[in-house]
Amino acid sequence: MYLAGLDIGATKTKIIIFTEQGKVISREKILTDSFNRVEPIIEKSCAQIERMLKDQGIRRSELGALGVGLAGQLDPETGYVDNSPNLKWFGVNFGKKFEKRIKRKIRLANDVNAAAWGEFVYGAARGKGYRNLVAVFPGSGIGGGVVCNGCLVEGATGTAAEVGHLIFRENGLLCDCGHRGCHEAYAGGVPMENRMRKLVRAGKGKLVDKMVNGDLSKINTRTIADAARKGDASAKEVWSDAVSSLNVLCANLVSVFNPEVLVLGGGVIEGNPILVPTIRNYVKTHAVDYSAKTVKVVKSNLGGDAVAMGAAALGAFEG
Ligand SMILES: [Zn+2]
Repeated sequence: MYLAGLDIGATKTKIIIFTEQGKVISREKILTDSFNRVEPIIEKSCAQIERMLKDQGIRRSELGALGVGLAGQLDPETGYVDNSPNLKWFGVNFGKKFEKRIKRKIRLANDVNAAAWGEFVYGAARGKGYRNLVAVFPGSGIGGGVVCNGCLVEGATGTAAEVGHLIFRENGLLCDCGHRGCHEAYAGGVPMENRMRKLVRAGKGKLVDKMVNGDLSKINTRTIADAARKGDASAKEVWSDAVSSLNVLCANLVSVFNPEVLVLGGGVIEGNPILVPTIRNYVKTHAVDYSAKTVKVVKSNLGGDAVAMGAAALGAFEG
């Protein structure tokens, strides 16, 4: 049996076809460029999946499950996407439309929920007999996923594990969600970069400005971390807030869920892998003792494949 998974991101959509044992057979990327509409990306994705199956000589009847992961508030049951700010989709019957075009059932999931399940089945928890996993993925924002007693926790409305919007500082920085002080406002990639840009525009962060030759669009979390290490005071302020936000968030989640493994992934981690040992040390010394002793803090095993593989795995064997 084969599985197919899609990871629909703001700029690119990744499609992976793999065996139920997790061996990747085919992997493609297409541009999302949906211009805020769902129909073009549904058509392009389905055509691409059909092409990939044909190229691999896989019959439709051999495709055991098709899963789709995307960032946003969505209902996994009905496939309705209430809002996906990244994709600029608001109130669309994505799942139904997709199913009509591909003529089969799909499993829709929030992207980091899917990634958590992907890591549980094929990645960090694979073959270890673990039953509990927490995933924290700081990318453009901060997504999270929780597997508890072998089941993915999606909540009453599919919005569980929005860990990026737990409060880090009361009345702190304004977050995209409209609230203040969320972890995402401090450690999400895009908010961090925007905060740095604002400081540079105000004449601070001279080293950052120099590192990107005055092109502020080039500022990324790596630039901020490098400038902070080299002593730039403003970069230090942004970076140390991000690090302490992630430290606190991860230690708190480990104390709440007592997982065997905490998986860290997403662009901010991939770009700054030094964060993994930093967070591990903090969790080991600040989470509740027994939980701290038990937990393994690791970098995502599947990396950029986690969302697509996890969404497909949710369609095939959900806990
Ligand atoms: Zn928020």
